[in-house]
Amino acid sequence: MALVGVDSKRFEVRDSSILQQMPWLTQETHALRWMDHCGSEITHHDGRCCVEAREWFLGWARSMEAASLVEGGMRAPTWLSDRFEWGPSAWPIPWCELIEQKVIDCGVFAALAREVFLAQGTPAFPAQAVIRYSDRCTRHWQQYWKEGDPGTSRELFPWVGSELVYHEICVVESKPGVARFYDSTWGNWYIPQSRLGYGSLVALRAFCSEDLQWGKYQIRPLEWLVIS
Ligand SMILES: [Zn+2]
Repeated sequence: MALVGVDSKRFEVRDSSILQQMPWLTQETHALRWMDHCGSEITHHDGRCCVEAREWFLGWARSMEAASLVEGGMRAPTWLSDRFEWGPSAWPIPWCELIEQKVIDCGVFAALAREVFLAQGTPAFPAQAVIRYSDRCTRHWQQYWKEGDPGTSRELFPWVGSELVYHEICVVESKPGVARFYDSTWGNWYIPQSRLGYGSLVALRAFCSEDLQWGKYQIRPLEWLVIS
């Protein structure tokens, strides 16, 4: 859901074993773009405007954390939704523009949550998910995205499929070698269990630097893991 990616090795989607693992790739028009996409990054003008905007954000984060719950040694930034609403963002987005926004997409939510975890001293990395919904839901989101288009010449990422959607989240190394996936847009932690149906997690990928354990799953850097 963003046009700027982290500088990392790209996913080789034309590998036929991947198609066997993820047969839904062939059913979704934009699936190859989802697979090829990297985690979103907020850009920086390399000047006072963005330095001050980022400092303002981190200061605000500290003040919000003071009143938030500690859980597993972390203070998850559930309060991001106090200021920002979920909706379309035009990418690339620099810090100084971002803090003026009321509406941000999941890529921006994830990038901000990472900043907060890192400032708390918790290793945090970009992560991506593919989630199953109903076509009724996806039709509604497609319409919402069309209406909320910020109207720039920049293209909005085609994250909504027919039954699946692409979503950006955040992975933290909560203890050495242990992963936890945080949905920065909706403020909840994913449960490492496979289930079917509406809202179920189909696959995820983490841009972590080494293998991490997530429940019974082993998370390998930059590799998609099929959950259900
Ligand atoms: Zn700037």
